[in-house]
Amino acid sequence: MPLTIQHDDLLPGRNFIGGQWREAQEGRRFDVTDPATDAVFATVPDSGALDAAAALEAAHAAFASWRAVPAKQRAQILRRWNDLVLAHQDDLGRLISREQGKPLAEGRGEVAYASSYVDWFAGEATRANGDVIPAPVPGRRMFALKEPVGVVAAITPWNFPAAMIARKIAPALAAGCTVVCKPAEDTPLTSLALVRLAEMAGVPSGVLNIVTASRQRAAEVVDVWLDDPRVRKISFTGSTPVGKHLARRSADTLKKLSLELGGNAPFIVFDDADLDAAVDGLMVAKFRNGGQTCVCPNRVFVHSAVHDTFVDKLAARVSALKVGPASDEASQVGPMINARAVEKIERHVNDAVERGAQVVVGGQRLASMGSNYFAPTLLVGVDSSMACSMEETFGPVAPVTRFDDAADVIRAANGTPFGLAAYFYTRDVRRVWRLADALECGLVGINEGALAAEAAPFGGVKESGYGREGSVHGLDEYVHLKYLCQGQV
Ligand code: NAD
Repeated sequence: MPLTIQHDDLLPGRNFIGGQWREAQEGRRFDVTDPATDAVFATVPDSGALDAAAALEAAHAAFASWRAVPAKQRAQILRRWNDLVLAHQDDLGRLISREQGKPLAEGRGEVAYASSYVDWFAGEATRANGDVIPAPVPGRRMFALKEPVGVVAAITPWNFPAAMIARKIAPALAAGCTVVCKPAEDTPLTSLALVRLAEMAGVPSGVLNIVTASRQRAAEVVDVWLDDPRVRKISFTGSTPVGKHLARRSADTLKKLSLELGGNAPFIVFDDADLDAAVDGLMVAKFRNGGQTCVCPNRVFVHSAVHDTFVDKLAARVSALKVGPASDEASQVGPMINARAVEKIERHVNDAVERGAQVVVGGQRLASMGSNYFAPTLLVGVDSSMACSMEETFGPVAPVTRFDDAADVIRAANGTPFGLAAYFYTRDVRRVWRLADALECGLVGINEGALAAEAAPFGGVKESGYGREGSVHGLDEYVHLKYLCQGQV
């Protein structure tokens, strides 16, 4: 059987609350499917309000003792967790590929990427220094201390089931917070496996709790956490509409929020660009995970002078991509996550063609392979009236728009409500800085298609959200500053 997991230990299949693996209190379960075949291959608890409340009680009860654990000890536990994650890299990679559909090499790569955040925040735990502030009057001593905010609710998407969990849970635990987590309904198994490894690493009971729920019951679980004042922080990665809902509903208890939301990244190729490097960068940025990444280029702008050459080079590469299930080591693009995703991609491509775009490569479902496959697609003649320009397609579609004027292309690049990533290729150093300043986004790839790194801040502006994950700033999302002022005695 393909993609077999060797260690049953990694498949607990239950919620983890207060240090115990438990069924949902109402006893319901829901199916986990393999997007390559739509076959059900596991079930997990379909939790509700009772389970969410139990998880919150456990996290709240554990907070006082966890925040008192010396940072060095919290770091040691995180490092043990990281060692276990790396020791199970192959199994975890297979699990990611099985439930999410990304090719095996990418599944294994995601485990390494997730691990890099755990390792990073183990280090940051021991560097959560505060400030000693010069006093304005004699005899006074002034300090700013970093304190953990309290219970954190982490809500994650399906497209990076390991990395999104690691990026939230590692800094929360490093800071001394306790966690309740609800992973995406399409990919609950990877998160349960990571929590199982955290348990093995010695994370104390109640410090890390996870409940799984179907799409229909996600809001019931999360609403319990949103409405309870004991949850002091929501860390969410997912779509902009859900992020706005969480922000509104958190207002009554004024929680701290990190929202990593949707993107609509521009990818701009100027006439002086190294075209081969630009094609390489676009292939990595666009087709990794079948185009289902939030930093994926969604609009490709190419200067008229190099448009045709660039499109020819790109077409050769896109048509050579091997589509197939994750179980085939040769696959470069796997199935999309589900039928809803394929329907959206198809709607965007059809809308673009109806409005005058031309299909150079692909353009349709690959129905003979299964219901969730879409051909890697290259469109030209795309303009801003088309849905694929204004909405995030989240699929293997590269829509190309021709441009002539640098000011126009910057306006177009900034012309959506989103601001997560942007990319541009040029060899003119003056233009590099002009664009770096002008682009309204949180991450910029300059002659580079692969940006993310645990040491760098990751996050957006505008309707792509706020807050940063990773880097020396990532821990600050999970602490508040307490100012101490001591007078002369
Ligand atoms: P989604 O917003 O539909 O779901 C994300 C999570 O929210 C899931 O766990 C889901 O169960 C939960 N959820 C859904 N409705 C909810 C509700 N009413 N109340 C509480 N929780 C609810 O997003 P998705 O389809 O899983 O993920 C894709 C989106 O995530 C894309 O827009 C993508 O750009 C974005 N994303 C952003 C980043 C980033 O760092 N900015 C990274 C990855 C993905």
